[in-house]
Amino acid sequence: MIKKLLIANRGEIACRVIRTANKLGIATVAVYSEADVNAQHVKLADEAILLGPAPSSESYLKGDLIIEKALALNVDAIHPGYGFLSENAGFADKCEASNIIFIGPGSEAIRAMGSKSAAKTIMEKAGVPLVPGYHGHNQDPDFLHAEAKKMTYPVLLKAAAGGGGKGMRQVWKDDDFFAALAAAKRESMNSFSDDHMLIEKYLTEPRHVEIQVFCDQHGNGVYLFERDCSVQRRHQKIIEEAPAPGLSEELRKEMGEAALKAAFAIDYRGAGTVEFLLDHDNAFYFMEMNTRLQVEHPVTELITGEDLVEWQIMVANNQQLPKTQEELSCHGHAIEARIYAEDPDNEFLPSTGKIEFLVEPTATNNVRIDTGVIGGDEVSIYYDPMIAKLIVHAPNREQALSLLVASLNKYLLCGVTTNIPYLNKVLTTSAFQNALLTTDFIERHEQQID
Ligand code: ADP
Repeated sequence: MIKKLLIANRGEIACRVIRTANKLGIATVAVYSEADVNAQHVKLADEAILLGPAPSSESYLKGDLIIEKALALNVDAIHPGYGFLSENAGFADKCEASNIIFIGPGSEAIRAMGSKSAAKTIMEKAGVPLVPGYHGHNQDPDFLHAEAKKMTYPVLLKAAAGGGGKGMRQVWKDDDFFAALAAAKRESMNSFSDDHMLIEKYLTEPRHVEIQVFCDQHGNGVYLFERDCSVQRRHQKIIEEAPAPGLSEELRKEMGEAALKAAFAIDYRGAGTVEFLLDHDNAFYFMEMNTRLQVEHPVTELITGEDLVEWQIMVANNQQLPKTQEELSCHGHAIEARIYAEDPDNEFLPSTGKIEFLVEPTATNNVRIDTGVIGGDEVSIYYDPMIAKLIVHAPNREQALSLLVASLNKYLLCGVTTNIPYLNKVLTTSAFQNALLTTDFIERHEQQID
């Protein structure tokens, strides 16, 4: 049984994991960089270990050092959060080799899903529907060009190693193909040291609907319904909700079962998310599987009443999943808004510096704030500038939406610029209120938002 847990992360997710560990009576160890000496996750943990200088490569990404410290402190398990080492198969292997439980799936599953093209090959075999496209080994530009032409434009070029929308290019006409391919490859090489590309039919105005799955080590698997994450800026999610508005019970079940098929195909363990694109005709296609806890997991927690970090710890302890599919149910509606220290009037550049003053809306049973900062803290240039997630729950979508807007309006924050006014504009568009959710939502409604 896990008695002592190291959280190999920072910010809101480290604080959130510590909260569940406290509830379960598990001792916690935080790790931190020189920039995070006074950070909240360091204060909340029972013990804290300095890793090194501020850049992630010299601190939060130092897997060997983290394991060394964990061993010295008799840690039983490491929770990687999201980002950093969470999808690093080598790190998962090293934890296991050091007799430390890695709270996540086995390294094979991480590896299998780490490449979008390899993942698609596995899913194709397992009978999970894929977006039409090419995901083979042949990288000859003329060959790729012929494939793109075959599937008819528009197409989407994607980096096999991609993430965070990097290495992705839409191609609308044949003349643009080679320039887009070169640009996508260059971006992919710069970001991932790999320029293997795949091509997909570009779906116009699909929805991004993802399924939360969970598997234990006894052959059990369940899905905890879906989240709609269509509202994105440059392929980055900004507002997420559960359940996905307008999804029929049949479709929900069909997508849930397809997601479980995906998880079983790679002998999955723990929390995972299977991302699908949902087209107008209700056809859905596998996009990728994230082998970790997602940023947006709280909306699922609020509609199911389950603590997903607690589930992760139970699975890591080799216990059975606490609920069967039949025992899980979905109540009301939850929406999450990601609050970033960034300037919407200046190309969304991160706004760093000291948070001089901060008053948050009051947390209640229906208003949850997951954050890693308090007034007086610094937003550093070194990390993701997300400072909080505001998540609300209400009996229906309309009520959840008004509660979210009202809660956003209660934020008082000085010192850094945030996207709160921007989020409010997005949430109050008639399109959002009417749940006209598509992945091009932001571009499509730009004029109403600006
Ligand atoms: P990344 O891992 O870089 O985030 P994804 O494959 O998850 O890339 O795709 C990110 C987003 O790009 C999706 O949520 C969706 O909005 C859009 N997208 C991806 N594939 C397609 C496609 N074939 N057609 C239309 N939009 C797509």
